[in-house]
Amino acid sequence: MRRLYACLLTLFLAVPAFADNTTSPVKPVTIVHAGALVDVVNGKVLKDQMIQIEGERIAKVTSWAPGAMPEGATLIDWSGLTVMPGLMDMHTHLADSGQSANVLAPLEFTAAESVLQGVKHARQTLRAGFTTVRDVGAWRAFNDVALRDAINSGIIEGPRMAVVGAYITVPGGAGDVTGQAFDVEIPKDLHFGVVRSASEVRERVRTLIQHGATFIKTLATGAVLTSGTHVGAQELSEEEIHAAVTEAANYNVYVTSHAHGAKGIKAAVRAGVRSIEHGSLIDDEGIALMKKHGTWLVADIYNGDYIDAVGRADGWGDEILAKNEATTERQREGFRKAHAAGVRIAYGTDSGVYPHGDNGKQFVYMVRYGMSEMEAIQSATLSPAQLLGWEADVGSIEAGKFADMVAVKGDPLKDISLLEHIDAVMKGGRIIKSEKHGTATGGADQ
Ligand SMILES: [Zn+2]
Repeated sequence: MRRLYACLLTLFLAVPAFADNTTSPVKPVTIVHAGALVDVVNGKVLKDQMIQIEGERIAKVTSWAPGAMPEGATLIDWSGLTVMPGLMDMHTHLADSGQSANVLAPLEFTAAESVLQGVKHARQTLRAGFTTVRDVGAWRAFNDVALRDAINSGIIEGPRMAVVGAYITVPGGAGDVTGQAFDVEIPKDLHFGVVRSASEVRERVRTLIQHGATFIKTLATGAVLTSGTHVGAQELSEEEIHAAVTEAANYNVYVTSHAHGAKGIKAAVRAGVRSIEHGSLIDDEGIALMKKHGTWLVADIYNGDYIDAVGRADGWGDEILAKNEATTERQREGFRKAHAAGVRIAYGTDSGVYPHGDNGKQFVYMVRYGMSEMEAIQSATLSPAQLLGWEADVGSIEAGKFADMVAVKGDPLKDISLLEHIDAVMKGGRIIKSEKHGTATGGADQ
């Protein structure tokens, strides 16, 4: 049934990304009294606002007027807080067991074990204020689809997810399981996206979309954390990435590319990907090319420090630490230059490399490397909505969109580090976490 539904989804391209869960003709009305509200569309902060929510969506936003409160409405008093749209992280790995010293870690867990760990990661991410994420790949194919579907059907708590199903990668490449002896057989779901030609890319892309992928992840170069791969080396060819782009486009689906090295970045941009993940060793030509094509940059500029500290302490291996060292500062400088040049940037952190729920730690880095506080907030709200094509549903606090919002004490436009500890979270009009009332469901969890 789910398979049929997924097929139907691909046939009807105009279908919305989400179906509203509220079916009752009379939708419950909630009023949020926001002491301050970050208007990311106009880049300003409004004082003392009244947000009217009907069911899962925002009905209107006006100046605070207690007399205008509809009868029977529930009031949420966030008058002492700064309210912002729900945060969005465009590079997460929720449906996996996480990074460790062991390069063969993907082999330690079954798909069921991995996705059940994903349940915890989804909850931690949502409670950290990230109400929408892209999951850019799980080792076990379709774990991310299962997690997304469980969240959407209300079985478990988590952010709205865009998912890829599996990594499209060359054999032994950044998205393959590596490090084992050459004659060890790897289960099918651990190398589902391994391809050897452009025609295999097309076939795999179709299968991923049929089985629920929202977008396609290609691996254009080696990776810091995949043993035996080289960050500077191109893996998938421009022709293969282009095959993914054109095939996915038949289903109105876009492609992103993991790319560290300058050559791989440029090949992916020329091939027509919508976003570049990491972009660590980008050069001036690559920046100009991204600007020209309108390609999004999703640069995970926080976790290099985490890998260096924890990876060193836990013995992640010289290969990983050396590659991390070679990319961390170069990536940050590339980020600074790309931002200055006007490349479109969306917030993405590579959660799973560092503990889920710490997604907010990248904000201070983005400000340190050239963004204003407002730009950093926009990169994690308005911009990801545009990258996803979900502007009608998420990304700002405006009438018609889902009531996904977060609130913090203090002014994040003066101190962006406040976003590392979100005080209150609402998703689809439902309180997930509240500073006054504790957590809405279950116990405390960070
Ligand atoms: Zn990643």
